[in-house]
Amino acid sequence: MQFTDSHCHLDFTEFSHDLPKLLQQCFAQNIHRIIVPSVKPEHWQRVLTLANEKNTEVNIACALGFHPWFLILQDLDLSKKLHLKNLDLTFQEQQLRQAISKNRNKIIAIGECGIDVFKAKKNTENEQAFNENLNLQQAFFEMQLVLAKENNLPVIVHHCQSHQLILPLLKQHKLEKLGVIHAFSGSYQQAKDYIDLGFKLGIGGTITYPRAKKTINTIKRLPLSSLLLETDAPAMPPLGQQGMINSPLNLIKVFQALTLIRDEPEEFIAEQLDVNVEQLFFSE
Ligand SMILES: [Zn+2]
Repeated sequence: MQFTDSHCHLDFTEFSHDLPKLLQQCFAQNIHRIIVPSVKPEHWQRVLTLANEKNTEVNIACALGFHPWFLILQDLDLSKKLHLKNLDLTFQEQQLRQAISKNRNKIIAIGECGIDVFKAKKNTENEQAFNENLNLQQAFFEMQLVLAKENNLPVIVHHCQSHQLILPLLKQHKLEKLGVIHAFSGSYQQAKDYIDLGFKLGIGGTITYPRAKKTINTIKRLPLSSLLLETDAPAMPPLGQQGMINSPLNLIKVFQALTLIRDEPEEFIAEQLDVNVEQLFFSE
């Protein structure tokens, strides 16, 4: 059996002290491939460099994009924020467009992009600021959907309390290459809405927590062909490692939790999961 971590922030400083060793350990655990999404322009070069890393047996692939958290700044009112280049949609669209065209054959997706309602609520002082932030997140997300479509690339989508905002945009923009709803949690109906559009769902450490009953029951009922395995490391550690730095090595724990949820034999599950990754990110 061999595995792909379809969402791991290997470019974060948490992993910089001994990356070669970590990659060796991953390969020894049959984690043969890792997909690294990026969160902001300052990280684009880092993920591209990682994807170009020749000194490892692990196959590393990368994506370029703006994480919605990049758009949530505390302690600044919006009038000041809008003067920041960071939040200037036209400027950032230009940046991303250029980076994609320069590196088109080195990237496999746009992301991570999306909408995070939870974080927007937590970091804004009043309803107006909250609504303004959501509009900004939505505009950046749409901009990335448009670029994904133009470049025939799939998207890696971040969600948090935002299915009701994300789904209509995905329906509207009709991407040819579709994408993945990463770290999926939600109801069967929400999952089915994405799957009916052709999207895949990223399954991570959440399913190792018995309290995640709703998500676990959802995943039990979904077609195996719609699932991808991921860690989201260094975030989202599995059960027993709360508060610790998550590692791509925990992918095996997520896989084991999945085999307990599903009825299919272990090897069959592993094989199908890797086929899913191939189909979404590595096929023409
Ligand atoms: Zn992520």
